[in-house]
Amino acid sequence: MSDLATSFSQDQRSDVRAVREEIVSVEARDVRFPTSRALDGSDAMNPTPDYSAAYVVVRTSAGAEGHSLVFTIGRGTDLQAAAVEVLAPLVVGCDVSQAIGDLGGFARALAGDSPMRWLGPEKGIVHMAVGAIVNAVWDLRAQRAGLPLWALLAGLSPEELVALVDFRYIDDALTPDEALAILRRAEPGRAERAQRLRAEGFPAYTTTPGWLGYDDDKLVRLSQQAVRDGFDLIKLKVGADLDDDLRRLRLVRDAVGPDVRIAIDANQAWGVDEAISWLEPLRPFHPYWIEEPTSPDDVLGHARIRGESGLPVATGEHVHNRVIFKQLLQAGAVDVVQIDACRVGGVNENLAILLLAAKFGVPVCPHAGGVGLCEMVQHLAMFDYVAVSGEMDGRVIEFVDHLHEHFVDPVVVRDGRYVAPSGPGGGARMHPASLAAFAYPDGTEWA
Ligand SMILES: [Mg+2]
Repeated sequence: MSDLATSFSQDQRSDVRAVREEIVSVEARDVRFPTSRALDGSDAMNPTPDYSAAYVVVRTSAGAEGHSLVFTIGRGTDLQAAAVEVLAPLVVGCDVSQAIGDLGGFARALAGDSPMRWLGPEKGIVHMAVGAIVNAVWDLRAQRAGLPLWALLAGLSPEELVALVDFRYIDDALTPDEALAILRRAEPGRAERAQRLRAEGFPAYTTTPGWLGYDDDKLVRLSQQAVRDGFDLIKLKVGADLDDDLRRLRLVRDAVGPDVRIAIDANQAWGVDEAISWLEPLRPFHPYWIEEPTSPDDVLGHARIRGESGLPVATGEHVHNRVIFKQLLQAGAVDVVQIDACRVGGVNENLAILLLAAKFGVPVCPHAGGVGLCEMVQHLAMFDYVAVSGEMDGRVIEFVDHLHEHFVDPVVVRDGRYVAPSGPGGGARMHPASLAAFAYPDGTEWA
Protein backbone atom coordinates (compact mmCIF):
# COMPACT_ATOMS: atom_id res chain seq x y z
CA MET A 1 0.00 0.00 0.00
CA SER A 2 1.36 3.47 -0.84
CA ASP A 3 2.07 6.07 1.87
CA LEU A 4 -0.92 8.02 0.63
CA ALA A 5 -3.15 4.98 0.71
CA THR A 6 -1.86 4.16 4.20
CA SER A 7 -2.65 7.62 5.52
CA PHE A 8 -6.08 7.47 3.89
CA SER A 9 -6.81 3.96 5.02
CA GLN A 10 -9.31 3.36 7.73
CA ASP A 11 -9.45 0.97 10.63
CA GLN A 12 -8.07 -2.39 9.52
CA ARG A 13 -10.16 -4.54 11.88
CA SER A 14 -11.91 -7.28 9.93
CA ASP A 15 -15.45 -6.18 10.90
CA VAL A 16 -14.70 -2.70 9.55
CA ARG A 17 -12.85 -3.99 6.52
CA ALA A 18 -15.94 -5.91 5.46
CA VAL A 19 -17.82 -2.67 4.69
CA ARG A 20 -14.84 -0.53 3.80
CA GLU A 21 -15.06 1.17 0.40
CA GLU A 22 -11.72 1.86 -1.23
CA ILE A 23 -10.41 3.17 -4.52
CA VAL A 24 -9.68 0.13 -6.66
CA SER A 25 -8.51 1.68 -9.94
CA VAL A 26 -7.59 4.88 -11.74
CA GLU A 27 -7.90 4.66 -15.51
CA ALA A 28 -6.76 7.27 -18.04
CA ARG A 29 -7.87 7.13 -21.68
CA ASP A 30 -6.52 9.00 -24.71
CA VAL A 31 -9.43 10.66 -26.52
CA ARG A 32 -8.94 12.98 -29.49
CA PHE A 33 -11.30 14.96 -31.71
CA PRO A 34 -10.20 15.96 -35.23
CA THR A 35 -10.98 19.68 -34.80
CA SER A 36 -7.96 20.70 -36.88
CA ARG A 37 -9.84 19.69 -40.06
CA ALA A 38 -12.00 22.85 -39.80
CA LEU A 39 -9.33 24.91 -38.00
CA ASP A 40 -11.62 25.17 -34.97
CA GLY A 41 -9.47 26.30 -32.07
CA SER A 42 -6.71 27.77 -34.25
CA ASP A 43 -4.66 30.61 -32.77
CA ALA A 44 -1.24 32.24 -33.06
CA MET A 45 0.56 29.44 -31.25
CA ASN A 46 -1.69 26.48 -32.01
CA PRO A 47 -2.42 26.60 -35.75
CA THR A 48 -3.97 23.12 -36.08
CA PRO A 49 -5.13 21.76 -32.71
CA ASP A 50 -7.01 18.49 -32.34
CA TYR A 51 -8.98 19.04 -29.15
CA SER A 52 -8.23 16.08 -26.94
CA ALA A 53 -8.36 14.82 -23.40
CA ALA A 54 -6.72 12.43 -21.03
CA TYR A 55 -10.00 11.11 -19.64
CA VAL A 56 -9.80 9.86 -16.07
CA VAL A 57 -12.07 7.46 -14.20
CA VAL A 58 -11.55 6.68 -10.50
CA ARG A 59 -13.45 3.52 -9.45
CA THR A 60 -14.31 2.29 -5.99
CA SER A 61 -14.89 -1.17 -4.55
CA ALA A 62 -18.60 -0.31 -4.30
CA GLY A 63 -18.78 0.26 -8.06
CA ALA A 64 -18.95 4.06 -7.82
CA GLU A 65 -17.01 6.21 -10.29
CA GLY A 66 -15.58 9.71 -10.35
CA HIS A 67 -14.82 11.20 -13.76
CA SER A 68 -12.60 14.04 -14.88
CA LEU A 69 -10.32 14.97 -17.74
CA VAL A 70 -7.25 16.96 -18.67
CA PHE A 71 -7.68 19.01 -21.82
CA THR A 72 -4.87 18.55 -24.37
CA ILE A 73 -4.49 19.29 -28.08
CA GLY A 74 -3.42 16.10 -29.79
CA ARG A 75 0.07 14.59 -29.68
CA GLY A 76 1.14 14.24 -26.07
CA THR A 77 -2.24 13.22 -24.76
CA ASP A 78 -0.72 9.77 -24.27
CA LEU A 79 1.98 11.39 -22.12
CA GLN A 80 -0.66 13.12 -19.99
CA ALA A 81 -2.58 9.85 -19.60
CA ALA A 82 0.64 8.05 -18.63
CA ALA A 83 1.30 10.60 -15.87
CA VAL A 84 -2.13 9.87 -14.41
CA GLU A 85 -1.42 6.15 -14.52
CA VAL A 86 1.95 6.62 -12.77
CA LEU A 87 0.09 8.33 -9.92
CA ALA A 88 -2.64 5.67 -9.80
CA PRO A 89 -0.87 3.24 -7.40
CA LEU A 90 -0.63 6.06 -4.86
CA VAL A 91 -4.40 6.30 -4.52
CA VAL A 92 -5.46 2.71 -5.10
CA GLY A 93 -6.30 1.37 -1.67
CA CYS A 94 -7.32 4.74 -0.22
CA ASP A 95 -10.42 4.69 1.94
CA VAL A 96 -13.10 6.53 -0.01
CA SER A 97 -14.91 8.16 2.90
CA GLN A 98 -11.61 9.39 4.34
CA ALA A 99 -10.42 10.75 1.01
CA ILE A 100 -13.74 12.50 0.43
CA GLY A 101 -13.83 13.74 4.01
CA ASP A 102 -10.34 15.24 3.82
CA LEU A 103 -9.85 16.29 0.21
CA GLY A 104 -7.41 18.96 1.39
CA GLY A 105 -5.11 16.35 2.88
CA PHE A 106 -5.67 14.02 -0.08
CA ALA A 107 -4.66 16.69 -2.62
CA ARG A 108 -1.64 17.80 -0.58
CA ALA A 109 -0.40 14.23 -0.21
CA LEU A 110 -0.79 13.54 -3.93
CA ALA A 111 0.99 16.76 -4.98
CA GLY A 112 3.69 16.08 -2.41
CA ASP A 113 4.74 12.64 -3.67
CA SER A 114 8.51 13.08 -3.74
CA PRO A 115 9.52 11.33 -7.00
CA MET A 116 6.72 12.94 -9.00
CA ARG A 117 7.09 16.31 -7.31
CA TRP A 118 10.69 16.31 -8.49
CA LEU A 119 9.40 16.55 -12.06
CA GLY A 120 7.54 19.79 -11.23
CA PRO A 121 7.24 20.92 -8.57
CA GLU A 122 3.52 21.59 -8.92
CA LYS A 123 3.65 22.41 -12.61
CA GLY A 124 3.11 20.87 -16.00
CA ILE A 125 2.09 17.33 -16.88
CA VAL A 126 2.55 15.91 -13.41
CA HIS A 127 0.56 18.62 -11.69
CA MET A 128 -2.23 18.40 -14.26
CA ALA A 129 -2.35 14.66 -13.56
CA VAL A 130 -2.67 15.40 -9.84
CA GLY A 131 -5.47 17.84 -10.68
CA ALA A 132 -7.26 15.21 -12.77
CA ILE A 133 -7.32 12.68 -9.94
CA VAL A 134 -8.34 15.31 -7.39
CA ASN A 135 -11.12 16.51 -9.69
CA ALA A 136 -12.33 12.94 -10.24
CA VAL A 137 -12.64 12.45 -6.48
CA TRP A 138 -14.57 15.74 -6.28
CA ASP A 139 -16.88 14.40 -8.99
CA LEU A 140 -17.36 11.24 -6.94
CA ARG A 141 -18.18 13.34 -3.87
CA ALA A 142 -20.64 15.52 -5.77
CA GLN A 143 -22.29 12.48 -7.38
CA ARG A 144 -22.64 10.94 -3.94
CA ALA A 145 -24.15 14.14 -2.54
CA GLY A 146 -26.54 14.37 -5.52
CA LEU A 147 -25.37 17.93 -6.14
CA PRO A 148 -23.70 19.86 -8.95
CA LEU A 149 -20.15 20.64 -7.87
CA TRP A 150 -20.83 24.37 -7.56
CA ALA A 151 -23.64 23.75 -5.10
CA LEU A 152 -21.65 21.20 -3.13
CA LEU A 153 -18.79 23.68 -2.71
CA ALA A 154 -21.16 26.53 -1.93
CA GLY A 155 -22.69 24.43 0.84
CA LEU A 156 -19.41 23.89 2.70
CA SER A 157 -18.67 26.02 5.74
CA PRO A 158 -15.93 28.67 5.54
CA GLU A 159 -13.83 26.50 7.86
CA GLU A 160 -14.26 23.43 5.63
CA LEU A 161 -13.28 25.47 2.56
CA VAL A 162 -10.17 26.91 4.21
CA ALA A 163 -9.11 23.37 5.16
CA LEU A 164 -9.06 22.46 1.45
CA VAL A 165 -6.37 25.01 0.60
CA ASP A 166 -2.62 24.46 0.73
CA PHE A 167 -1.42 27.83 2.02
CA ARG A 168 2.25 26.92 1.68
CA TYR A 169 3.87 29.45 -0.66
CA ILE A 170 0.89 31.85 -0.59
CA ASP A 171 0.42 32.77 3.07
CA ASP A 172 2.68 35.80 2.63
CA ALA A 173 -0.15 37.22 0.49
CA LEU A 174 -3.19 35.44 1.93
CA THR A 175 -3.31 33.91 5.41
CA PRO A 176 -5.84 31.26 6.43
CA ASP A 177 -7.46 33.86 8.70
CA GLU A 178 -7.85 36.29 5.80
CA ALA A 179 -9.33 33.51 3.65
CA LEU A 180 -11.75 32.70 6.43
CA ALA A 181 -12.76 36.35 6.68
CA ILE A 182 -13.42 36.51 2.90
CA LEU A 183 -15.60 33.40 3.04
CA ARG A 184 -17.45 34.51 6.17
CA ARG A 185 -18.17 37.89 4.58
CA ALA A 186 -19.87 36.11 1.66
CA GLU A 187 -21.72 33.58 3.81
CA PRO A 188 -24.89 35.55 4.70
CA GLY A 189 -25.75 36.20 1.04
CA ARG A 190 -25.16 32.68 -0.26
CA ALA A 191 -28.79 31.57 -0.49
CA GLU A 192 -29.92 34.74 -2.21
CA ARG A 193 -27.09 34.58 -4.76
CA ALA A 194 -27.70 30.87 -5.44
CA GLN A 195 -31.32 31.71 -6.12
CA ARG A 196 -30.33 34.51 -8.50
CA LEU A 197 -27.84 32.20 -10.22
CA ARG A 198 -30.50 29.56 -10.79
CA ALA A 199 -32.94 32.17 -12.09
CA GLU A 200 -30.65 34.27 -14.28
CA GLY A 201 -27.61 32.13 -15.06
CA PHE A 202 -24.06 33.46 -15.33
CA PRO A 203 -22.67 35.77 -18.05
CA ALA A 204 -20.83 34.12 -20.95
CA TYR A 205 -18.67 35.44 -23.74
CA THR A 206 -17.87 33.69 -27.00
CA THR A 207 -14.66 32.85 -28.81
CA THR A 208 -16.49 30.84 -31.48
CA PRO A 209 -16.21 33.52 -34.22
CA GLY A 210 -12.62 34.54 -33.67
CA TRP A 211 -10.35 31.59 -34.47
CA LEU A 212 -7.33 32.70 -36.44
CA GLY A 213 -7.83 30.14 -39.21
CA TYR A 214 -11.33 31.36 -40.12
CA ASP A 215 -11.64 33.52 -43.24
CA ASP A 216 -13.14 37.02 -43.08
CA ASP A 217 -16.59 35.94 -44.24
CA LYS A 218 -16.85 33.29 -41.55
CA LEU A 219 -15.50 35.73 -38.94
CA VAL A 220 -18.11 38.35 -39.78
CA ARG A 221 -20.96 35.86 -40.13
CA LEU A 222 -20.23 34.18 -36.79
CA SER A 223 -19.73 37.55 -35.04
CA GLN A 224 -23.15 38.74 -36.18
CA GLN A 225 -24.63 35.41 -35.17
CA ALA A 226 -23.03 35.76 -31.71
CA VAL A 227 -24.72 39.12 -31.18
CA ARG A 228 -28.05 37.66 -32.29
CA ASP A 229 -27.46 34.83 -29.80
CA GLY A 230 -27.22 37.37 -26.99
CA PHE A 231 -23.46 37.75 -26.45
CA ASP A 232 -22.11 41.21 -25.70
CA LEU A 233 -18.45 40.17 -25.55
CA ILE A 234 -16.61 38.45 -28.40
CA LYS A 235 -12.97 37.37 -28.39
CA LEU A 236 -10.66 37.43 -31.40
CA LYS A 237 -7.36 35.66 -31.77
CA VAL A 238 -4.48 37.97 -32.70
CA GLY A 239 -0.73 37.94 -32.87
CA ALA A 240 0.27 36.17 -36.08
CA ASP A 241 0.17 39.15 -38.48
CA LEU A 242 -0.46 42.78 -37.53
CA ASP A 243 -2.20 43.73 -40.78
CA ASP A 244 -4.55 40.77 -40.37
CA ASP A 245 -5.28 41.81 -36.80
CA LEU A 246 -6.14 45.37 -37.82
CA ARG A 247 -8.35 44.21 -40.69
CA ARG A 248 -10.17 41.59 -38.63
CA LEU A 249 -10.76 43.97 -35.72
CA ARG A 250 -12.17 46.58 -38.12
CA LEU A 251 -14.43 44.00 -39.80
CA VAL A 252 -15.84 42.75 -36.53
CA ARG A 253 -16.28 46.24 -35.06
CA ASP A 254 -18.18 47.29 -38.20
CA ALA A 255 -20.26 44.10 -38.07
CA VAL A 256 -21.29 44.22 -34.41
CA GLY A 257 -21.48 47.97 -33.75
CA PRO A 258 -19.97 50.04 -30.95
CA ASP A 259 -21.73 48.44 -27.96
CA VAL A 260 -20.41 44.90 -28.21
CA ARG A 261 -17.13 44.45 -26.37
CA ILE A 262 -14.22 42.81 -28.19
CA ALA A 263 -11.41 41.09 -26.28
CA ILE A 264 -8.23 39.94 -28.00
CA ASP A 265 -6.02 36.93 -27.28
CA ALA A 266 -2.41 36.51 -28.43
CA ASN A 267 -1.88 33.06 -26.89
CA GLN A 268 1.67 34.00 -25.75
CA ALA A 269 2.84 34.98 -29.24
CA TRP A 270 4.96 37.99 -28.27
CA GLY A 271 8.00 39.01 -26.31
CA VAL A 272 7.41 41.88 -23.89
CA ASP A 273 8.70 44.73 -26.08
CA GLU A 274 7.02 43.22 -29.12
CA ALA A 275 3.69 43.04 -27.27
CA ILE A 276 3.89 46.71 -26.31
CA SER A 277 4.63 47.86 -29.86
CA TRP A 278 2.13 45.44 -31.49
CA LEU A 279 -0.68 46.60 -29.22
CA GLU A 280 -0.16 50.32 -29.95
CA PRO A 281 -2.04 50.35 -33.30
CA LEU A 282 -4.77 48.05 -31.86
CA ARG A 283 -5.64 50.48 -29.07
CA PRO A 284 -8.12 52.57 -31.13
CA PHE A 285 -10.36 49.46 -31.25
CA HIS A 286 -10.57 49.57 -27.42
CA PRO A 287 -9.94 45.88 -26.73
CA TYR A 288 -11.80 44.84 -23.58
CA TRP A 289 -8.66 42.95 -22.58
CA ILE A 290 -5.46 41.59 -24.09
CA GLU A 291 -5.13 37.95 -23.12
CA GLU A 292 -1.82 36.07 -22.80
CA PRO A 293 0.30 38.76 -24.45
CA THR A 294 3.50 36.94 -23.49
CA SER A 295 4.90 33.93 -21.65
CA PRO A 296 2.60 32.88 -18.81
CA ASP A 297 5.67 32.63 -16.55
CA ASP A 298 6.69 36.27 -17.05
CA VAL A 299 5.10 38.08 -14.12
CA LEU A 300 7.07 41.30 -14.49
CA GLY A 301 6.60 41.24 -18.27
CA HIS A 302 2.83 41.22 -17.81
CA ALA A 303 3.12 44.16 -15.42
CA ARG A 304 5.14 46.15 -17.98
CA ILE A 305 2.75 45.34 -20.82
CA ARG A 306 -0.18 46.40 -18.65
CA GLY A 307 1.50 49.64 -17.69
CA GLU A 308 2.88 50.62 -21.10
CA SER A 309 0.06 49.46 -23.38
CA GLY A 310 -2.62 51.00 -21.19
CA LEU A 311 -4.81 47.96 -21.90
CA PRO A 312 -6.38 45.59 -19.37
CA VAL A 313 -4.34 42.37 -19.22
CA ALA A 314 -5.81 38.89 -18.72
CA THR A 315 -4.01 35.60 -18.21
CA GLY A 316 -4.19 32.26 -16.45
CA GLU A 317 -5.04 29.36 -18.74
CA HIS A 318 -1.36 28.38 -18.78
CA VAL A 319 -0.42 29.60 -15.30
CA HIS A 320 1.09 26.61 -13.53
CA ASN A 321 -0.10 27.06 -9.97
CA ARG A 322 -1.24 29.34 -7.14
CA VAL A 323 2.28 30.73 -6.68
CA ILE A 324 2.42 32.42 -10.08
CA PHE A 325 -1.14 33.72 -9.65
CA LYS A 326 -0.03 35.17 -6.31
CA GLN A 327 2.85 36.98 -7.97
CA LEU A 328 0.71 38.24 -10.87
CA LEU A 329 -1.63 39.77 -8.30
CA GLN A 330 1.15 41.10 -6.03
CA ALA A 331 2.86 42.72 -9.00
CA GLY A 332 -0.35 44.38 -10.23
CA ALA A 333 0.20 42.55 -13.51
CA VAL A 334 -3.36 41.45 -14.32
CA ASP A 335 -6.83 42.95 -14.52
CA VAL A 336 -8.51 39.59 -15.09
CA VAL A 337 -7.65 36.19 -13.58
CA GLN A 338 -8.43 33.33 -15.95
CA ILE A 339 -8.57 30.09 -14.02
CA ASP A 340 -8.66 26.80 -15.91
CA ALA A 341 -10.30 23.69 -14.46
CA CYS A 342 -7.51 21.38 -15.68
CA ARG A 343 -4.27 23.38 -15.54
CA VAL A 344 -3.54 23.42 -11.81
CA GLY A 345 -3.89 20.87 -9.00
CA GLY A 346 -7.66 20.53 -9.17
CA VAL A 347 -10.58 22.13 -7.36
CA ASN A 348 -8.50 22.73 -4.24
CA GLU A 349 -5.83 24.83 -5.92
CA ASN A 350 -8.44 26.72 -7.94
CA LEU A 351 -10.12 27.55 -4.63
CA ALA A 352 -6.80 29.02 -3.46
CA ILE A 353 -6.66 31.11 -6.64
CA LEU A 354 -10.27 32.30 -6.25
CA LEU A 355 -9.44 33.40 -2.70
CA LEU A 356 -6.28 35.20 -3.84
CA ALA A 357 -8.23 37.02 -6.54
CA ALA A 358 -10.90 38.00 -4.00
CA LYS A 359 -8.23 39.29 -1.63
CA PHE A 360 -6.74 41.48 -4.39
CA GLY A 361 -10.15 42.51 -5.76
CA VAL A 362 -9.48 41.16 -9.26
CA PRO A 363 -12.35 39.49 -11.17
CA VAL A 364 -12.09 35.85 -12.20
CA CYS A 365 -13.21 35.17 -15.78
CA PRO A 366 -12.45 31.50 -16.44
CA HIS A 367 -10.80 30.05 -19.50
CA ALA A 368 -12.99 27.47 -21.20
CA GLY A 369 -13.62 26.06 -24.66
CA GLY A 370 -11.41 23.12 -25.50
CA VAL A 371 -13.25 19.90 -24.78
CA GLY A 372 -15.03 19.73 -21.45
CA LEU A 373 -13.54 22.95 -20.07
CA CYS A 374 -16.86 24.81 -20.24
CA GLU A 375 -18.61 21.89 -18.55
CA MET A 376 -16.06 21.83 -15.72
CA VAL A 377 -15.06 25.42 -15.05
CA GLN A 378 -18.60 26.83 -14.92
CA HIS A 379 -18.90 25.19 -11.49
CA LEU A 380 -15.91 27.14 -10.16
CA ALA A 381 -17.15 30.49 -11.48
CA MET A 382 -20.62 29.91 -10.04
CA PHE A 383 -19.18 28.83 -6.68
CA ASP A 384 -17.01 31.98 -6.70
CA TYR A 385 -20.11 34.10 -7.18
CA VAL A 386 -22.17 32.37 -4.51
CA ALA A 387 -19.57 31.85 -1.79
CA VAL A 388 -16.25 33.63 -2.42
CA SER A 389 -16.20 36.95 -4.28
CA GLY A 390 -19.99 37.34 -4.12
CA GLU A 391 -19.74 39.30 -7.36
CA MET A 392 -21.13 38.74 -10.86
CA ASP A 393 -20.37 42.21 -12.23
CA GLY A 394 -17.34 42.11 -14.51
CA ARG A 395 -17.35 38.30 -14.41
CA VAL A 396 -17.85 36.24 -17.53
CA ILE A 397 -17.13 32.62 -18.50
CA GLU A 398 -15.65 31.82 -21.90
CA PHE A 399 -17.87 29.78 -24.19
CA VAL A 400 -16.95 27.97 -27.36
CA ASP A 401 -19.60 26.02 -29.19
CA HIS A 402 -17.72 22.81 -29.92
CA LEU A 403 -17.99 19.20 -28.76
CA HIS A 404 -20.64 19.65 -26.07
CA GLU A 405 -22.69 16.84 -27.58
CA HIS A 406 -20.21 14.32 -26.17
CA PHE A 407 -21.07 15.16 -22.56
CA VAL A 408 -23.70 13.53 -20.38
CA ASP A 409 -24.49 16.93 -18.82
CA PRO A 410 -23.58 19.45 -21.54
CA VAL A 411 -23.46 23.16 -20.79
CA VAL A 412 -26.54 25.15 -21.63
CA VAL A 413 -25.88 28.70 -22.81
CA ARG A 414 -28.98 30.76 -23.46
CA ASP A 415 -29.17 34.48 -24.36
CA GLY A 416 -25.45 34.83 -23.69
CA ARG A 417 -25.59 33.24 -20.24
CA TYR A 418 -24.64 29.89 -18.77
CA VAL A 419 -27.62 28.16 -17.19
CA ALA A 420 -26.60 26.86 -13.74
CA PRO A 421 -26.20 23.07 -13.97
CA SER A 422 -28.54 21.09 -11.74
CA GLY A 423 -27.30 17.53 -12.32
CA PRO A 424 -24.87 15.94 -9.87
CA GLY A 425 -21.11 15.95 -10.39
CA GLY A 426 -18.30 18.03 -11.78
CA GLY A 427 -19.44 18.08 -15.40
CA ALA A 428 -16.69 16.08 -17.12
CA ARG A 429 -18.59 12.86 -17.69
CA MET A 430 -18.67 11.89 -21.39
CA HIS A 431 -20.92 9.44 -23.21
CA PRO A 432 -19.37 5.94 -23.47
CA ALA A 433 -20.07 5.95 -27.23
CA SER A 434 -18.05 9.16 -27.67
CA LEU A 435 -15.16 7.78 -25.64
CA ALA A 436 -15.15 4.67 -27.82
CA ALA A 437 -15.49 6.45 -31.16
CA PHE A 438 -12.79 9.05 -30.50
CA ALA A 439 -10.33 6.83 -28.61
CA TYR A 440 -6.89 7.35 -30.07
CA PRO A 441 -5.59 5.69 -32.17
CA ASP A 442 -8.07 2.82 -32.38
CA GLY A 443 -11.49 4.49 -32.18
CA THR A 444 -13.74 4.32 -35.21
CA GLU A 445 -13.19 8.04 -35.95
CA TRP A 446 -9.43 7.49 -36.25
CA ALA A 447 -9.00 3.91 -37.46
MG1 LIG B 1 -6.83 32.14 -24.43
